[in-house]
Amino acid sequence: MTTAHLPGHPHIDYRGDALTIEEVPLSGLAREHGSPLFVYSKASMLSALAAYQRGFVGRQARICYAMKANSSLAILQVFAQAGCGFDIVSAGELERVLAAGGQAETIIFSGVGKTRAEMRQALHAGIGCFNVESEAELDVLNEVALSLGLRAPVSIRVNPNVDPKTHPYISTGLKGNKFGIAHERTLLTYQRAAALKGLKVVGIDCHIGSQITEETPYLDAMDRVLDLVQAIEAAGIALHHIDFGGGLGIDYNGETPPAADGLWAKLLAKLDARGYGQRQLMIEPGRSLVGNAGVCITEVLYLKPGEQKNFCIVDAAMNDLPRPAMYQAFHQIVPVNKRSGSTEVWEVVGPVCESGDWLGHERALNVQTGDQLAVLSAGAYCMSMASNYNSRGRAAELLVDGAKVHVIRQRESLADQIHNERLVG
Ligand SMILES: *Cc1c(COP(=O)(O)O)cnc(C)c1O
Repeated sequence: MTTAHLPGHPHIDYRGDALTIEEVPLSGLAREHGSPLFVYSKASMLSALAAYQRGFVGRQARICYAMKANSSLAILQVFAQAGCGFDIVSAGELERVLAAGGQAETIIFSGVGKTRAEMRQALHAGIGCFNVESEAELDVLNEVALSLGLRAPVSIRVNPNVDPKTHPYISTGLKGNKFGIAHERTLLTYQRAAALKGLKVVGIDCHIGSQITEETPYLDAMDRVLDLVQAIEAAGIALHHIDFGGGLGIDYNGETPPAADGLWAKLLAKLDARGYGQRQLMIEPGRSLVGNAGVCITEVLYLKPGEQKNFCIVDAAMNDLPRPAMYQAFHQIVPVNKRSGSTEVWEVVGPVCESGDWLGHERALNVQTGDQLAVLSAGAYCMSMASNYNSRGRAAELLVDGAKVHVIRQRESLADQIHNERLVG
């Protein structure tokens, strides 16, 4: 049985018995906007960003928000207005950044499977850098750039082979992963890239995983990347920037990941010691900027006590919050309005027809039918992974800024869902 712990965030907390986001009690929001409902705190996103910005004071650094964590337009707009660039993984994400007012030259394009069409689109837009993940991709990008009479700015994603000590599905910097170029082949690959006329080598990058809660993997990866920088530059290939990826974890259930500014003080000390402290630096944080800025409000539909288990059936499901089903991930689930009295232990599950459709196991809650619950840490990899499974429309999203509430996504209607479908003539 797990007792509730409110992930440390000054902007989402109880005032008396009422869970409140910035100046707004959550209970009224679902009544007005329906349930399930995602609600984000702008102040929370900006304070997470500020920790990175403090870490980089006096440096040439660009923070590229890894937007797959949450790609809703208004979220991108908040980060664009705060001076961020963007880390994208598809042409769809490129178009979202531009639609939200982001600048093409601040975009870096990651991912192991970029298509020729996506490369052309990104070259036309004038993005800042392609993070190339294989030798075959280098050749294709070279061809595409030459066919347009352009040179593609490239950085090669190296796989430093360090263990980020996180869930295997979100660990990306080990030898057995599909990501990046093996450490041992990096120099050869750079030499090959430098010889291709359609490419311009501009940097190096790595990204070792996600939800990393220790500093050692970062420090080890930094050493390895700097060894490579030294070897590549000794071979006469200049690297204008060093991109250190994202992956910093958040507090879902009492984890204590390093603070962004403290971690960067240590990483910068390493860079300084080896003479790279004044390089252009880039990072690609996603989860750590938005994860704890969001909650998902859900209503209790039915209580179904049983001999072995008590089920609390809520109106949010795996199509809204896929992380528990996908990664056995833990999200705190807390009452929107606390009740006095004793708790019972519940399996919190959604209405979808799959036994994998659960949101929380063995949660101590004092609930009644019709109550609202808040699934915490729901700002990252929730709405951006949401689906229409069981023909469920995706939830609405709100952005709270002080006492102001902005609807940033309307609830998806059935008309939205079937818009592209056709009956047979
Ligand atoms: C997903 C991803 C990120 C962001 O990871 P977080 O754990 O959300 O910080 C950064 N860079 C690349 C290449 C990614 O694929």
